Amino acid sequence: MAIERTFSMIKPDATRRNLTGAITKIFEESGLRIIASKRVWMSRREAEGFYAVHKERPFFGELVESMSAGPTIVQVLEGENAISRNREIMGATNPKDAAEGTIRKLHALSIGENSVHGSDAPETAKQEISYWFSETEIVG
Ligand code: ATP
Ligand code: MG
Repeated sequence: MAIERTFSMIKPDATRRNLTGAITKIFEESGLRIIASKRVWMSRREAEGFYAVHKERPFFGELVESMSAGPTIVQVLEGENAISRNREIMGATNPKDAAEGTIRKLHALSIGENSVHGSDAPETAKQEISYWFSETEIVG
């Protein structure tokens, strides 16, 4: 199996509820290694840039608002098949559809405030990592 890197965020709804450690523990217990991590309070402009792919979607304004409403933990996770593995650990976008034991089932409040983000493919992982981290901040 391939060792991959993926980009992850612990969103403001989760940092507000002091869930940074609880969510980080789930990643580590699932075999993903945190090789970069920092806490940022993103501006509206940064949130709009990060989520530009969704700019035509009806929920874009709400998404930008919630992502700039408080601190986010941005991280790089490394491990075997990290991109798809992390998506499994997160669970479905809507917590109502998320499988038992997933982060979103355990912690998400709603489809919008769903506690975590994870890259969905190798190209997006690469882009998203470089949006938030320089090479020297990533220590594998
Ligand atoms: P993410 O990209 O955050 O990991 P995802 O890939 O499961 O989540 P996307 O379809 O890429 O879901 O949507 C990006 C984010 O936009 C979601 O995580 C959620 O916060 C928000 N979002 C998606 N659909 C809705 C909706 N119908 N109403 C409100 N917010 C939504
Ligand atoms: Mg997505």
